Amino acid sequence: MSAPTALPYVAHVARDEVIQHAAVRLVGVTKTFGSVTAVDDLDLEIRDGEFFSMLGPSGSGKTTVLRMIAGFEAPTSGRVFLGGVDVTREAPFNRDVNTVFQDYALFPHMDVLTNVEYGLRVKKVPRGERRERALAALDTVRLTGYADRRPTQLSGGQRQRVALARALVNRPKVLLLDEPLGALDLKLRREMQIELKQIQREVGITFCFVTHDQEEALTMSDRIAVFNHGRVEQVATPTELYEAPQSSFVAGFVGTSNLLTGADARAVFGREGTFSIRPEKVQLDEDAGGPPKASGVVQAVVYLGSVNHYLVELDGGSTLTVLRQNLHGTADQALGRRGERVDLTWADEHVIDLGTEAGSPAAGVPAEEGGIP
Ligand code: ADP
Ligand code: MG
Repeated sequence: MSAPTALPYVAHVARDEVIQHAAVRLVGVTKTFGSVTAVDDLDLEIRDGEFFSMLGPSGSGKTTVLRMIAGFEAPTSGRVFLGGVDVTREAPFNRDVNTVFQDYALFPHMDVLTNVEYGLRVKKVPRGERRERALAALDTVRLTGYADRRPTQLSGGQRQRVALARALVNRPKVLLLDEPLGALDLKLRREMQIELKQIQREVGITFCFVTHDQEEALTMSDRIAVFNHGRVEQVATPTELYEAPQSSFVAGFVGTSNLLTGADARAVFGREGTFSIRPEKVQLDEDAGGPPKASGVVQAVVYLGSVNHYLVELDGGSTLTVLRQNLHGTADQALGRRGERVDLTWADEHVIDLGTEAGSPAAGVPAEEGGIP
């Protein structure tokens, strides 16, 4: 694979001037639609060459951010930089970015090769080079030999690869992907996650990937920004997000939150606060090495094939999910434990201290009234 070409981020700025800057930088970006604030005073930096994901629930502003980076929407206030250059007022075609959408948006009457070449044809790239680059892009997405097919003769996964090839062929500095795997079934989606990450490594292009699927974000990303109500709650690597979430919203959105608060926090930790322990870090009585940290009653057992989830209600009212691999016994034995009283234990280093999050939206108190001390 050849190195990405030294195209500048913006057509009329020399690359030397911009090389030391972040691939994408948003400074104080707000976007309102009437009375809706879709994006709220956002600062964000995406590094050159990284696989960056924007993760958050539906309506949290991810697509709006992507559209402002691409130039399809103008911010209400704030500035957008690509490679250190202010592009806030630049048209989409003046920005060295390409977008891959969930619905592929392929031309049905053109074959695969013509679809992939399309952007180069618009840019008046000579025919021979166009063809060569399009075939190379099809190679990159593992579609060698499919050049003559029509989109209708392809599976969903293959169509998504064509859409990806069509964006990669332009060799953009930044590739924007908006839930591109959302229409694929789970098995194919998992395969494509791993492949997308490999492709990103091979081509070395900065990927900015939007998803509401935490597993998808954890699988592929170098760093993840967690969105909530048009704001970013935390930007971190997958491991940091999972092991050290900074808010109960992040703890709950990335993984199962397992919050201990109120009477349970006082009983277990001897103080007020919100604490979280991941389900796989909690042990049920017979696995436990040390003395129990808490006890409660099994409210439900969810059978998931390779693992079971035990939902245990503690004496103070918090519910913890405990994950156990199905190493021993039968599913029926596990399911039969509903109503049983059990002891729980965990290692102290696995407790995530979320502080006294009075101001956290996840705690149900508006930020204006609470405020994190
Ligand atoms: P996400 O991609 O995270 O699901 P969006 O960026 O699509 O979120 O939307 C964020 C918020 O902005 C939502 O409340 C949505 O309804 C609103 N919104 C997005 N685009 C428009 C638009 N063109 N007109 C009005 N409201 C919009
Ligand atoms: Mg969206």
